[in-house]
Amino acid sequence: MTCRACGHDRDLELHSIAALSPPSTVMVEVGYACRACRRTYLHPADVAAVAEILNRESHADDVVTFAGSYFHCGQLMQKTGSELRRLSAPIFTDRTTEDDLDVYLTTQVLHCPCGFQIELPE
Ligand SMILES: [Zn+2]
Ligand SMILES: [Zn+2]
Repeated sequence: MTCRACGHDRDLELHSIAALSPPSTVMVEVGYACRACRRTYLHPADVAAVAEILNRESHADDVVTFAGSYFHCGQLMQKTGSELRRLSAPIFTDRTTEDDLDVYLTTQVLHCPCGFQIELPE
């Protein structure tokens, strides 16, 4: 990803990331602007190139989130499912379990092609 007017990428600012149709794990549609040239671009781009721009302000092995998409180690993470988690906490430690406080939490499971996986609250 480079600005076609000035030919470099140091002034690029990401505006949007959207899945392509049909969905791809290696390409996304990205919208960005070059702050120096005041030009905007919108086109399919390599996920790794997008992640490289996103990763400038963080470590490469961090999960980076942008516009609802999650990236890990330069790859786009895929949502692989939802889990309903039941968290149970006794209210009284000297009574039976009838009064247990049940908390249900829906989480989404995100998977990176490298095998890394995280669960986030919906
Ligand atoms: Zn430019
Ligand atoms: Zn990864």
